[in-house]
Amino acid sequence: MTSLERVQAALSGTPPDRVPVGPFVGAAAAPLVGASLRDYYTDGAVIARAQHALWQAVGHDILVTAADTYYIAEAFGLKTTHHEHALPTVDEPLLSMLEEADALRLPDPEADGRMPVYLKALEELRVLTGSEVALRGTGTGPFSLAAYLLSEQAFLTLLADLDCGERGEEDRLRLHRLLDLMADTTAAFLRAQIDRGVHLAYLGDSLASAEMISPAMYRAYALPYHQKVFASAKAHAAAAGRTVFTLLHICGANQPSLAAFAETGADLLEIDHKVPLAEARRLAGPATSLIGNLDPVQTLLLGTPERVFVESGRAIREARGADGRFILGSGCFVPPGTPLENLRQMVAAAEKTNSEEHGTTW
Ligand SMILES: [Zn+2]
Repeated sequence: MTSLERVQAALSGTPPDRVPVGPFVGAAAAPLVGASLRDYYTDGAVIARAQHALWQAVGHDILVTAADTYYIAEAFGLKTTHHEHALPTVDEPLLSMLEEADALRLPDPEADGRMPVYLKALEELRVLTGSEVALRGTGTGPFSLAAYLLSEQAFLTLLADLDCGERGEEDRLRLHRLLDLMADTTAAFLRAQIDRGVHLAYLGDSLASAEMISPAMYRAYALPYHQKVFASAKAHAAAAGRTVFTLLHICGANQPSLAAFAETGADLLEIDHKVPLAEARRLAGPATSLIGNLDPVQTLLLGTPERVFVESGRAIREARGADGRFILGSGCFVPPGTPLENLRQMVAAAEKTNSEEHGTTW
């Protein structure tokens, strides 16, 4: 099986030849091609070259275009600073009050913000890898995107004010219009990535974690928009005759909200190391695939290769259903400086665990 076939089999519920491996490595790949972080998140060709180099060094199954947080928010006019050796930071919130959101207009993913960087990364990765490996795209979730424009603190305060009646129905409707515009924006970006051949249409919305908001708030302000984005991506892929799998990334201890995450239309949920995989499997139900859940810092960055190998084997045994709907990954972004040998041990564990199941001695 090629890496792409292995990933597609696992997500379709067909047992693959071994468990696919897809750690969430973004800008941590930049040093492989001698690039600074700024070179990486401002140039899709650099992303593609670095991800290709990582693939050749590690032999994993999923390449990742995602690198930073504000590439869509910048399309609305959010001012950020691009640092040579750090990810972008926000200068000041775009909206000083919710009413200003009424003036926002739908951006163009082909031209606005840094969305074109990530589209170019996909185009170049397809040239470099053919159709051998699964390509995972990027997309900011509507909930986080609205928060970036208002500032996270102002956004969460607004939700709390609505919840306790400090703000009225007019503001609630205005917030829903903002979230709807954010969903339309991310949906258009995901459709543009599907046109470039992405295999995993990604939505990351970690501000909607159960560590930040209640399950009731998730259902009121995030779930309908996640459903809208994924439905749009699925319909677009189907119209083009392509199979695209949807991936939801919300890190954190999400046990209270996991059942709702499974209602988004995500084929695949990325599971944080704070959630035991057996529990995630139970909460998400048998039809949803899981990717996770090695600890990016304690295990992948700081752990020994032996520790990575042992924890990988444990994760595979804990999560892999008989139908194979599991991908070995990391709960969140793998930090810069993570040893390549540790990532290779994830692949080694997947290969060895498979041999073990087939009765090979090792
Ligand atoms: Zn995360």
